[in-house]
Amino acid sequence: MDEPGIPHAQRSHVNFSLSSSLGNSLVPSPTLSINELVRQMWANGETVYHLGFGESRFPAHPAIVRALVEHASRQSYLPSAGIPELRQAVAGFHSRQLNREIRPDQVIVAPGSKSLLFAFQLALSGATVLHTPSWVSYEPQSRLFNRPVLRMPASPEDGHQLHPARLHRILRHSPYDQHLLILNSPSNPTGQMLEPALLEEIADICRREEVLVLSDEIYGLTAFGREHVSISSFYPEGTVVFGGMSKHLSLGGWRLGTALVPPGDSGQQLLQAVAKIGSELWSTASAPIQFAAVTAYADDAELASYVEKCTALHAARTRYLWRGLSELDISCAEPMGAFYLFPNFNHWRKPFASLGVQTSVDLARYLLEEWQIATLPGSDFGTPARELSLRLSTSYIDLETDQKAAELIEMASASANVEELLSSHHPGMNEVLARLKNLLSSL
Ligand code: PMP
Ligand code: GLU
Repeated sequence: MDEPGIPHAQRSHVNFSLSSSLGNSLVPSPTLSINELVRQMWANGETVYHLGFGESRFPAHPAIVRALVEHASRQSYLPSAGIPELRQAVAGFHSRQLNREIRPDQVIVAPGSKSLLFAFQLALSGATVLHTPSWVSYEPQSRLFNRPVLRMPASPEDGHQLHPARLHRILRHSPYDQHLLILNSPSNPTGQMLEPALLEEIADICRREEVLVLSDEIYGLTAFGREHVSISSFYPEGTVVFGGMSKHLSLGGWRLGTALVPPGDSGQQLLQAVAKIGSELWSTASAPIQFAAVTAYADDAELASYVEKCTALHAARTRYLWRGLSELDISCAEPMGAFYLFPNFNHWRKPFASLGVQTSVDLARYLLEEWQIATLPGSDFGTPARELSLRLSTSYIDLETDQKAAELIEMASASANVEELLSSHHPGMNEVLARLKNLLSSL
């Protein structure tokens, strides 16, 4: 607002307007917002059962911490695509995992795979195709630079499965010349995985229609329902594989993500384009973290067994909550990986409506305000506003402090029966189930 009559030098503020390309649709990422809100509520002494945020809470492995300490004094800027030692280590790690050779020049690293997903979308022309529900940030990232997004509809009745015929239809009827398909298996938010036969079918469609796949496999090493298979095994020439240290190594705050481009000249062209974008946005991933990551990607049996132990706990905790929901007749697909559930409350639509709860946003708000349970509404993941779906993350509850998370790992190592451990050491999760039971019987 102008301050009429006041000379410029004495005005208390400068007039500016926000960029019109951001529009009014720009909101903070819902995942980070709910986490900040819950932390604020805890700081105020309030009780909140935190199913809102997906952050693996287990301790950083001591070997990786030692490597970070050893390299803490590395203060120089590094190459945009990553240091050669790390690109080599990541290539070796994925060559073993994918059972085919990945060369170091196919690897780029950045501060988080979130940054890389943004840069790849920015580098490529055309529209992004998303299976719904999809992780909260893919679509808002596209919107930041007006990239069109096409959503593949999915239905709660079959657990939001991906139907290749729908993909085919969308591509055939699309007004755009080029498309990127973002896949995410295991999935945030549903915890579902795409089975190999389905991946093969999707790969065939993408090859025929010349669609590049951005395969977000950041939860690949947290799969527990079936073995994780990458679509790049069926479509190596057209898949970019995304990963990082945030999930299986519980190092989200360290901000290190990876991408593997397809082999050959076009893959190199793409990597160079993304490295140029990175050079203008983040310059390089943090130097000490890159050097520590060389240890994290080493061929090390002890690290691999630590990852397996953490995944087994995510599996047991997520299945425990899923079983509890099933006993309450809340419809929810059985989890296969990561630490997410995507239950649906459409069955109680009528009684909820009489409480003023008509949308998933209303439902999430109601659960937080009346029952002290923090979740995220399905619509943050692209489902229709009136579909009463929620995303629940089991990663935080009963592991609110670093100490609790460390204790659980220790107890799990000593205990023969993880399920028993859960019912006796997970008061928060049990309380959530008790509250949901009370809520549903009050309707
Ligand atoms: N993809 C998915 C599906 C995620 O859940 C996350 C974590 N929020 C990311 C990508 C980004 O992870 P990061 O930036 O920590 O590598
Ligand atoms: N992946 C996490 C989630 O979905 C949070 C981190 C983020 O969104 O960047 O809750």
